[in-house]
Amino acid sequence: MRDDILRSEKLNTMGELAASFAHEVRNPLTVVKGFMQLMHQNETGKNHEYLTLALSEVGRAEMILSDYLNFAKPQFHKIEECCYHEVLSEIIALLNPLAAKGGVTLEGNLSKENLHIETDRNQLKQAIVNLLKNAIEATKEGGMVSVSLNGKDGQAVIEITDNGRGMTQEQLSRIGTLFYTTKERGTGLGTCVSLRIINEMDGRVFYSSELDKGTKVTLLLPVSKMSCPNQTQGMLQVAK
Ligand code: ADP
Ligand code: MG
Repeated sequence: MRDDILRSEKLNTMGELAASFAHEVRNPLTVVKGFMQLMHQNETGKNHEYLTLALSEVGRAEMILSDYLNFAKPQFHKIEECCYHEVLSEIIALLNPLAAKGGVTLEGNLSKENLHIETDRNQLKQAIVNLLKNAIEATKEGGMVSVSLNGKDGQAVIEITDNGRGMTQEQLSRIGTLFYTTKERGTGLGTCVSLRIINEMDGRVFYSSELDKGTKVTLLLPVSKMSCPNQTQGMLQVAK
C-alpha cells in the first residue's frame, strides 16, 4: 500500500517534469518544422529526399512529445457524445495502412447497438489507437488483428485480439510500467497513456496473453444515457 502511494507520487513528479520538458521542446520544434517544410517545397533532387526523411523524423519527435504531455495530464478539452461504433470505424480506417504495410489483416466486428460515451473524442481515439498499434506491431506478416465492440451489462466491451508474438507472464506483468518497451524504437509510453486515459474515463483494461499465440486486450468502458440497446445506429440516422 505504502509502496503504491510512493510509486504514484513518483510517477506524478516524473510526469510533471516530462510535461514541462515536452512543452518547452515542442515550440522550437514547430518552428524548425515550418522552415523545413518551406525548404521541402523549393528543393529538388537529393536535398528534397533528405528533407522528406528529416520531416518524418520531426513528425516522430512530435508524436513522442505529445505522448509525454498526454501521459502527465490527459486533457479532456471538449466533452461530447461519442458513438463507439463511429470512433472504432475511424480508428480501423486510420490504422489500416499500417496493418497493410506489415502484411497484417485488420478486421472489425462492431455491434450496431447504439453505444455512446460522453467524453473527449480525441482522448478516446488516442487510448484505443495506442493499444491497436501495439497489436499490429506484435503481429507477423500473414497474421490477423481484430477489433470487436459489444454492449454487456450496461457497459461497452471492446476487444483487441491479435495472433502475434504474445507475452510471457513476466512481460505481461510489466505492461503499463512507464518506459517499459521491447522495441528498438519504442518509447514505452503508449500503454501508459492509454491506461491513464481509460482510468480517467472510469473504464478498465484487462490483458490476457500467451507467448507465440497472441494477446487479447479487453476494455470495459461506460456508456452514456444516450445509449439505448434497442435502438440501432441505422434507425438513429433515419430519425435525423
Ligand atoms: P512501445 O510500443 O513504445 O514499446 P507501449 O507502452 O505501447 O510502448 O508497449 C510496451 C510494450 O508492451 C511493448 O514494447 C511490447 O513489448 C508489449 N506489448 C504491448 N502490447 C502488446 C501486444 N499486443 N502483443 C505483444 N506485446 C505487446
Ligand atoms: Mg506502443
